[in-house]
Amino acid sequence: MTAITAIQDKVADLIRPVFKSQQDFFASGATRSYKFRVQQLKKLKAAVKKHEAAIYEALKKDLSKPVFESYVSETGIIYQEINHTLKHLKEWMEEKTVSTSMAHFPSSSKIIYEPLGTVLIIAPWNYPFHLMFAPLVTAISTGNTAILKPSEFTVNTAMIIEKIIKEVFEPNYIHVVQGEGVVVIPQLLDNFRFDHIFFTGSVRVGKIIAQQAAKTLTPVTLELGGKSPAVVDENASLAVTAKRLIFGKLFNSGQTCVAPDYLLVHENIKDKLIAQIKKQVTEWFGENPQESDSLGRIVDHRRFDILVKYLEEGEIVMGGQTDRADKFIAPTLIDNVSMEDELMKTEIFGPILPILTYSTPEEAIEIIKQNPFPLALYVFTSSSKFEEKILSSVRFGGGCVNNTIVHLSNPNLPFGGVGYSGMGRYHGEEGFKTLSHQKSIMKTNTMVDLPVKYPPYTDSKLKVASKFLG
Ligand code: NAD
Repeated sequence: MTAITAIQDKVADLIRPVFKSQQDFFASGATRSYKFRVQQLKKLKAAVKKHEAAIYEALKKDLSKPVFESYVSETGIIYQEINHTLKHLKEWMEEKTVSTSMAHFPSSSKIIYEPLGTVLIIAPWNYPFHLMFAPLVTAISTGNTAILKPSEFTVNTAMIIEKIIKEVFEPNYIHVVQGEGVVVIPQLLDNFRFDHIFFTGSVRVGKIIAQQAAKTLTPVTLELGGKSPAVVDENASLAVTAKRLIFGKLFNSGQTCVAPDYLLVHENIKDKLIAQIKKQVTEWFGENPQESDSLGRIVDHRRFDILVKYLEEGEIVMGGQTDRADKFIAPTLIDNVSMEDELMKTEIFGPILPILTYSTPEEAIEIIKQNPFPLALYVFTSSSKFEEKILSSVRFGGGCVNNTIVHLSNPNLPFGGVGYSGMGRYHGEEGFKTLSHQKSIMKTNTMVDLPVKYPPYTDSKLKVASKFLG
């Protein structure tokens, strides 16, 4: 990264010709056709396939990701997104005819989906490949050009991303900018007016991006985080709940934006659920989870040190072992935590699961509302009444019933937060709409021209208008 550090202060000067060339390329209309978009998506998929082994190696170096996790959540999910897009793109791109009221007779109405221009995509470190390429697939499918800024905390993945992009695309279409976000992004936003900013990352930086974007009224999509609860009802199936809960918590060592952040379990089944989780963790990762090949590591020592402090904030009932040199934290359950503890006030983003109990659904809802607008919520129950009560009483981005994190992998479900967990949605058609401008057109026949709407306005014309408009 040393070479990058040296040049990042001049990023605006370096990017100026690239930005101009992207604007020119976009203005030429070259990116707009269905054929062009399909060709680029296919080229991108082929390049990811070709570099799969190098991508996994980079993810291993950056996050010690097991190959299975890298396939499922970094490359495989991108293949799925590309396949889904290729299957539906034609239909998404088609102009949509919508109905027109009789008040506008003789008119017809349609929506045209147009590309926006040049999009800036900023990605975080936790799924550094997926969270760069998923919005990129959307940018390509919508006929935009793009500048990509990977996270500086996962350098190896950032480098393979740049290598793939350089190999497949010209910089006047897609280009990668490396460097520290705090240095590079403000320069980009101060010097260039992007047509959209697609940001995935923390709430703190999301606010900075939104403020900077406001200066040029640049639209933003903010995919942020939050404290996502897993609520377990008294009657939930214990064995399945334990498995699906800790699968979602320990995938990528808990460094997942939609990971269940804390457990909110009915007081009557708390002990049984803890016992079941302990049994499951041992079954999956052995007596010494540090030796397991199925667990990743914490991204860096900065994050490791933050997480280790949380371990002092309650009573450890499972795990708790740490190894700084290896950036390893064992799957950990923490009991007797208070809402005043730091670990209950910030997104944990690690393999640590605090346990809280409740006795009534109302009490559970009150606890959740202390950290409003989670990105995800999970409810484990066999009661549809309980499910409905929780789902309808809390504002959250999206979630699952009797499962965790998997809603993110269905391209038919819009993905995004609400309130502090973000704004805007993507995946599948929702992403297509986000990075397209929906141009609305009403066309009126010239053969008939009803005089009722024209001056001079009279009482009888008002009566006719009120018949149409109600
Ligand atoms: P981050 O906000 O620190 O960084 C994200 C990006 O912003 C990086 O590319 C970084 O270089 C850049 N950046 C950092 N500081 C900046 C600044 N001052 N000005 C401009 N840009 C800056 O986030 P992170 O630590 O990389 O990722 C973790 C966070 O991301 C968690 O909160 C997590 O919940 C969230 N997240 C959300 C989603 C989602 O889809 N909603 C997915 C993954 C992660």
